[in-house]
Amino acid sequence: MPAPRGAGVPALAFFVNLDIFEHLDILETPLPAFSVARFRPCAPLAGVFSSPQPLQGGIVRGAMNMTPVKEILASSGRPTLSLEFYPPRSALDFGILGAAIERMRPVAPDFVTCTYGAGGSARTFSFDALQLLVRLDFTPVVAHLTCVGATADELAAHVDQLYAAGIRNIMALRGDPPREEGAFRPVPGGFAHAIELVRLVKDRHPDICCGVAGYPEVHPEATSPEDDLRHLKEKVDAGADFVNTQMFLDTDAFLRFRDRAVAAGILAPIIPGLMPIVSYKQAMRCVQFSNSVIPAPLAVALQAATTPEEAADAGIRWIVDQIATLVHEGAPGIHLYILNQAKALLNPRLAAAIAAWHA
Ligand SMILES: Cc1cc2nc3c(=O)[nH]c(=O)nc-3n(C[C@H](O)[C@H](O)[C@H](O)COP(=O)(O)OP(=O)(O)OC[C@H]3O[C@@H](n4cnc5c(N)ncnc54)[C@H](O)[C@@H]3O)c2cc1C
Repeated sequence: MPAPRGAGVPALAFFVNLDIFEHLDILETPLPAFSVARFRPCAPLAGVFSSPQPLQGGIVRGAMNMTPVKEILASSGRPTLSLEFYPPRSALDFGILGAAIERMRPVAPDFVTCTYGAGGSARTFSFDALQLLVRLDFTPVVAHLTCVGATADELAAHVDQLYAAGIRNIMALRGDPPREEGAFRPVPGGFAHAIELVRLVKDRHPDICCGVAGYPEVHPEATSPEDDLRHLKEKVDAGADFVNTQMFLDTDAFLRFRDRAVAAGILAPIIPGLMPIVSYKQAMRCVQFSNSVIPAPLAVALQAATTPEEAADAGIRWIVDQIATLVHEGAPGIHLYILNQAKALLNPRLAAAIAAWHA
């Protein structure tokens, strides 16, 4: 039963009529013919995509690939490739994301992830984005979920609904406080830490594969690196199946963190998170929110760039080097924070670096 139409994302017009892209100078290459065919079947599902409520509509099941990430990690025989998406905030952006996914398709990620309420975005959009990924067969998908603004009962209902919709991978996060609040405060009856969400997910649905966040350069609120690592171990001991790290630019920081984690008895796979940097300004923004550093050679290269292309090229060279080192060091996978953009991912140098190990 489609949910009533209302205040949600009125994205349908853009899904069913990709001709709009012919009139907007937003695509660098023409859409392949098959992508239009893939979008058109969404037409009868208008109510689902414009739902004002998260989780009211059903995700199309059947052929949907929802293999648990832990199985993919265990069986791939090579590092996995995963891509992180965030929910678009407007109908047009949903359409642009759909087109970007079509362009990324040849890269064939092993799984994709979708954030939830990150950076203060509306949490309802997350389910719309999940549906877009599923409908475009960009799966398996990992649904992020946070404890922000929800009681334990509400979180339980949300987890059950994701499960009923066929989702078998959840990234269990505490979430960041809304900017105006400063420190994180759980709502009455809510959770203070991600570990409680891990326990809830595993108690209700032991077959859900659960990921948790790890911080190579230490979470900003941690009382010490040792405490932060101890809390990570507690999350894994509570049932988390894999760790996905915060983005980092300093590869050595990750390798030290990985070694410390293993020494502390954290045996779950730790997937490094990388972002293709396109400018010094963007790098500064990233390191501020992630509490990380810009290694000096990258900072110099970004600052020396005289054009946006030169800066993006420096960023690509850096991430290519990071990937080569991490794969050589036995990373179980590479997770790319691509910010919904196909451009960096399709850069020939990055594509070649991925193709070197990701057949
Ligand atoms: C891969 C990844 C994906 C993310 N996706 C999203 C997203 O989709 N949406 C979003 O809003 N945010 C997202 N974030 C950001 C994340 O929500 C924030 O970094 C948040 O501040 C911490 O979340 P956490 O799950 O690590 O929390 P926690 O594991 O609860 O840790 C938070 C802090 O509390 C400490 N701590 C943990 N357990 C305890 C305990 N039992 N007692 C005392 N202290 C403790 C930790 O050391 C840490 O300093 C993501 C982060 C990463 C790395």
